[in-house]
Amino acid sequence: MTSTISHWAGGARYDGSSDRWAEVTNPASGGVTGRVALASREDADHVIAAAGAAAAEWRATSLARRTQVMFAFRELLNARRDELAALITAEHGKVHSDAVGEIARGQEVVEFACGISHLLKGGHSESVSSGVDVHSKRDPLGVVGIISPFNFPAMVPMWFFPVAIAAGNTVVLKPSEKDPSASLWLAELWKEAGLPDGVFNVLQGDKVAVDALLQSPLVEAISFVGSTPIAQYVYEQASQHGKRVQALGGAKNHMVVLPDADLDLAADSAVNAGFGSAGERCMAISVLVAVGSVGDELVARIADRTRTLVTGDGGAAATGEDGTGREADMGPLVTREHRDKVAAFIDSGEREGAKVVVDGRGVRARGSEDGFWLGPTLFDNVTPEMEIYREEIFGPVLSVVRVETYEEAVALVNANPYGNGTAVFTNDGGAARRYEADVNVGMIGVNVPVPVPVAYYSFGGWKRSLFGDTHAHGTEGVHFFTRGKVVTSRWVDPANRPEGGLELGFPRNV
Ligand code: NAD
Repeated sequence: MTSTISHWAGGARYDGSSDRWAEVTNPASGGVTGRVALASREDADHVIAAAGAAAAEWRATSLARRTQVMFAFRELLNARRDELAALITAEHGKVHSDAVGEIARGQEVVEFACGISHLLKGGHSESVSSGVDVHSKRDPLGVVGIISPFNFPAMVPMWFFPVAIAAGNTVVLKPSEKDPSASLWLAELWKEAGLPDGVFNVLQGDKVAVDALLQSPLVEAISFVGSTPIAQYVYEQASQHGKRVQALGGAKNHMVVLPDADLDLAADSAVNAGFGSAGERCMAISVLVAVGSVGDELVARIADRTRTLVTGDGGAAATGEDGTGREADMGPLVTREHRDKVAAFIDSGEREGAKVVVDGRGVRARGSEDGFWLGPTLFDNVTPEMEIYREEIFGPVLSVVRVETYEEAVALVNANPYGNGTAVFTNDGGAARRYEADVNVGMIGVNVPVPVPVAYYSFGGWKRSLFGDTHAHGTEGVHFFTRGKVVTSRWVDPANRPEGGLELGFPRNV
């Protein structure tokens, strides 16, 4: 039986009137499991209007009440996260433990947003002039749109909506059409947590839905995460329509291994960060830069570990089908089309002369023959001219580039058009400190391969990995979803009334 996945508006499912649908598949079986509505412009306007209708009341709701709802949402999500993880695995393909990890990282932002009453505190200055005080405050924006990619159907929306809602905004989430079910599950959870109808809404669809959000006069701000060409389009369109916008794009993350590094730690980290979630992470390591003499030994250790990985069905119930009782390390890729695209990159790397050390094509996966399988692939002797170096592959492909010096490694990282994440592996604190200063990248790990910042810091890359000025969550997230006001007030002391009179000169503080 297949499910029908529609929109969520004003606290209830909304089917819309569009006759356009997209198929949703289970990547581990290759079978169609549902169909998702692709909104028409009218459907989009209906969902956005629901968010608009709820905005005035929600912004006037006390901080105490908003905080209670956030805590209730947190408790419900903690209690039921396995349910959500199963939905993610069934449509995205990532293994159960990875799906649970994604939810846990999203949950950190909910916990951060539980402190909204502290985060929204303004400043106050008394007697800035005779009898004059000043205070500052931050107001919500109104309706905000969140447009998210397929690879984190829960975590990426949760980078934004907890802060947006806690700060007093109403939200329209446009999830990826490849794994749309998590969004509706979250909408139902919000309702159960006591969020008033219309504060959290879901709009399913493709470019039509996105364009409606970018153009609607009711929408004040857009948070987008996805590939770089679409991020740039969203940034330009939303800006032209007068909206505040943050648009996070693609990545090509380099892990630099210096000759003094702990090689076992580096090899474990490269495998975890290269192949976790089948490489479908914006913070995945896709290039390993081996500096100096370290290359041969490092490639050998990574290859040994890579060969032990199990590719298979990631559902909790599928654990240990091979008798080991062990969950698969890596699930399938999200769609057949994406699997074939990544396999074509591997063909291209081989054709262009990179050395295939471990070949994921033709992997024997634990699961249905029709699943979208591709095993982990390790390339050595990759050069910057090759297509596998230039393009964001977004699959389980790790490329090793060998360089002679630290300076060459830094030049390589800085010449790359992306600047999302990077890591340096070394036991030399001075070298790590210098790397941190030298690279033009937004998020840096020192002996940490996937340096995703905790919720109270902000997440975001540089260069073509982010269009806009503001990163996600942390204090930058609070600023993005609020607008500052400064109030200057004079209250006359009845016992000491000034003489007054007309004065047309520019106000001076005395
Ligand atoms: P995508 O760009 O194809 O889709 C992202 C969103 O944009 C989806 O909701 C989709 O429906 C919509 N969209 C797609 N085509 C569109 C069009 N022509 N016009 C308007 N909207 C359109 O990205 P994806 O394949 O879902 O996700 C993978 C990409 O996301 C990778 O490039 C990855 O690096 C990036 N990503 C980046 C980050 C980050 O933090 N920088 C995080 C996660 C994913």
